[in-house]
Amino acid sequence: MKKIGVVGAGTMGSGIAQKAAMEGFTVTVVDLDEAALQKSRQRMEEIFSESIQRRLLRDEDVAKVWGRIRFSTRLTNLAESDLVIEAIFEDLDAKMALFRQLSEILSPDAVIATNTSTFPVTDLARSVSRPERFVGLHFFYHPVKNRLLEIIPGDKTDPGIVERARQFCQALGKVDLLCKDRPGFVVNRFFVPWLNEAVRLLAEGRATLEEIEHTARSGFGIGMGPFELMNVTGVPIAARAAAGLERYLGEFYRPHERLIRQAQEGPWPLEKKEDVSFRQEVFDRLFGVVIFLANQLLEENACTAEGVEIGAKVGLRWPRGPLGMWNAMSEKDRARVLGTFRSAYSGLSLPRFLKPERHYPIRTVELEIKDDTATFFLSRPDQANALNEQVFADLEGFLKELRGISTLVIRGRGKNFAAGADIKFFLDQIREGTIDRIVDFTARAQQVLLQLDRFDGRVVAVVDGFALGGGAELALSADFIVVTPRARIGFPETGIGIYPGLGGTCRLTRRVGKGLARYLIGTGAILTGDEAAEIGWADACVHPIDLSTDLIRHLQTQRKQGPGQHWQNLATFMESHSLGDLLSGTFPEEWQQKIQKKLKQKAPLALATAFELIDANVTADIETAYANELKYLPKIFSTRDALEGLQSVGKYRPKFEGR
Ligand code: NAD
Repeated sequence: MKKIGVVGAGTMGSGIAQKAAMEGFTVTVVDLDEAALQKSRQRMEEIFSESIQRRLLRDEDVAKVWGRIRFSTRLTNLAESDLVIEAIFEDLDAKMALFRQLSEILSPDAVIATNTSTFPVTDLARSVSRPERFVGLHFFYHPVKNRLLEIIPGDKTDPGIVERARQFCQALGKVDLLCKDRPGFVVNRFFVPWLNEAVRLLAEGRATLEEIEHTARSGFGIGMGPFELMNVTGVPIAARAAAGLERYLGEFYRPHERLIRQAQEGPWPLEKKEDVSFRQEVFDRLFGVVIFLANQLLEENACTAEGVEIGAKVGLRWPRGPLGMWNAMSEKDRARVLGTFRSAYSGLSLPRFLKPERHYPIRTVELEIKDDTATFFLSRPDQANALNEQVFADLEGFLKELRGISTLVIRGRGKNFAAGADIKFFLDQIREGTIDRIVDFTARAQQVLLQLDRFDGRVVAVVDGFALGGGAELALSADFIVVTPRARIGFPETGIGIYPGLGGTCRLTRRVGKGLARYLIGTGAILTGDEAAEIGWADACVHPIDLSTDLIRHLQTQRKQGPGQHWQNLATFMESHSLGDLLSGTFPEEWQQKIQKKLKQKAPLALATAFELIDANVTADIETAYANELKYLPKIFSTRDALEGLQSVGKYRPKFEGR
């Protein structure tokens, strides 16, 4: 699926087209209205110039993206498309008419997708000639920036098409959320009623608009309350979405008349007021609605508990999803929420397992099995899939369950593989004086990676986006590592006062040799996917859109001639000097001086320990290497440099003292 068509160049279509072109697809955007196409081009220009200003893109990148986008008023220009995404007005007849036309124009292999927010995918599929190649792809506003993509198979959609839709989603760097074809899919099923509930509370006079805003912001931990959000995305959209839900699901979802009125009048009159108080009843009603509907989703098997959480965290940027919020509450508070909700909606029956004592297990790894291939998805996309105690426990739990699997794939949900270990966990232990917990965590994680090493079958790591530190070490315990050109791999540890402790000093060294291991761990250099494949860190580099399960299963090593001259020089240089020489010597070449400068910026103790470990572990078996890595942990995590380095992550450049 390399050639994409988008029909409808409005708010959504324009953004979808832009995002697809940015990720390397050729895109044709079709709209009946020439003016809409002009406006779409303008919108894209605005986003590009914002990205250039923020240094996310360079002029030459933008020029390349423009080279991949075409605008047209003629549907026939989509004839060559592999995938066409419909994003026209939310009008059933218009959509069905369009699908009939597309069925005639497109090749029989093409896939048609709809971005509808309210119509069942199965209903829309009736208007295409090949319903098995029709699927819902529900993007969220703003489609360039919001990373969630709901994927909705209709009742006739072929599972192979669902897989291709997920591959497309992955290639866009988005997080896919597989949903049943239920009204509102997953996120809007609880989000739109949450907005509506805020309006009801206002109309019932339970609180002022500012009180509701304030309570929602502080209770849910979010930046904008329901009214401000409606003002940003459009009050009429909220009213229409609620009406859409009501059409299929009944009265509870009906847009309040105050909402319908406001949709005609314009934005909500928001005032910034100080001294607004938190209103418990308001929070309980708002939260009661989302937890009630999250439970309905689970009861209907519309998605998994993880899906509900990902929807809220990635799609709405809530710090916790409904189930995570519930889990964090006391039973007393849960009982109060349910009581308040019940008295407001006495006519509704609560889902049978919604009880105060209920706890919802939410896994940080998701397992999918297809024939003899199992895939572990690291699934904390809102945290760049950072590795914590639960991730390793979940991996271990699943590993115990696997039987008869010949290929085990490990990959990340969303645009990253795993951006390291959870820094907050380390900081908490240092501050609380419980460094032994860091040692236990590391020892346990090492054992999980050892199980991967010894897995009875082929383990393949698929690395897209960041694989840093512990993430890189997780990938290194696979038999085969496939990266994408977007992959960014490296070991930043010595730059934050610590060193790799999950076998990195051994497994990386085995793959790339001592010189390059010293270079990578010593300087913290971040490699692109192509570079990682060139030096043998990875076995193959493949574009994300080609990464089907089938291809992953059969991939063979694609090493070319081995590392180029530049890498060979680097390896020799690093291997033939001691750390002391590297730090204090005088070197003629600019690249050598650059390396020296980088090494000098690292935490001295961490750097020296890392070099020592690489030297010791290059010939050691993995268990000895693990023991060596564990040995220095109490010392390194007790240094001031570790605290300084860990605290600095994402904030400032650390200053190390060498102690
Ligand atoms: P929009 O009104 O901004 O744009 C729709 C565009 O489609 C217009 O430019 C119009 O000229 C064009 N169009 C209409 N009929 C056409 C046809 N037959 N052929 C070609 N072009 C045609 O709409 P939008 O907000 O971008 O929404 C598009 C779809 O996405 C809707 O189904 C909507 O429910 C869904 N959606 C919207 C949002 C959102 O926040 N706006 C979020 C998710 C999904």
